[in-house]
Amino acid sequence: MRILIVEDETAISAFLKQGLEEESYAVDVADEGKTGLQLALSGDYDLLLLDWALPGLSGIEICRQFRKEFLDIPIIFLTAKDTVDETIFGLQSGANDYVKKPFHFEELLERIRVQLRPKSGEHSTFKLGKIILNTETHQVHKGDQEIILTQKEFALLEYLIRNKGKVCRRMRIIESVWDMHFDYNTGVIDVYINALRKKLKLSEEENYIQTVRGIGYIAKD
Ligand code: CA
Repeated sequence: MRILIVEDETAISAFLKQGLEEESYAVDVADEGKTGLQLALSGDYDLLLLDWALPGLSGIEICRQFRKEFLDIPIIFLTAKDTVDETIFGLQSGANDYVKKPFHFEELLERIRVQLRPKSGEHSTFKLGKIILNTETHQVHKGDQEIILTQKEFALLEYLIRNKGKVCRRMRIIESVWDMHFDYNTGVIDVYINALRKKLKLSEEENYIQTVRGIGYIAKD
């Protein structure tokens, strides 16, 4: 899952980025409005976290313009504008939730989880052969055994499992799991795939994560 933060106070955005990355989200930051809108409109994000008062373009304007293109991607305001009228105005501009500064990270995290919660009919557990991944508890099991993964390994496995049966291009994996400052030329993705295969102790019959030569990877039961 990839989140875009549009926030001009770098102390706040750095704190948020670190906290959210520890929860295995991929996070990009824009520190002014126009860049924020441009990035948001790339369509690469699962959620936007918007400040209201921003140089360039206000969060409200970003929200309105973004909603013309993307109806389903959740937007959360994170702002010092705390009156009832402002809150209502923010929500009416197309935001799904409104969090006032100062905020508690744990609460914000929970609100993000609520927005990204599987829609009814979707499940929070995903299966790949003998492997079960739970996006709510952040646990991975193979049979009875729990497999301890790093945040990035978990995010990578989640991406592959969510796209089970489809060829996942390396670029798409990188965009979803790492942030935009990632060096696309490094072989780090292969290192992570190998680490994942090792930790999951995949035998020859359990060829769940297959390499698609020159393109990327595919998850198969
Ligand atoms: Ca601001």
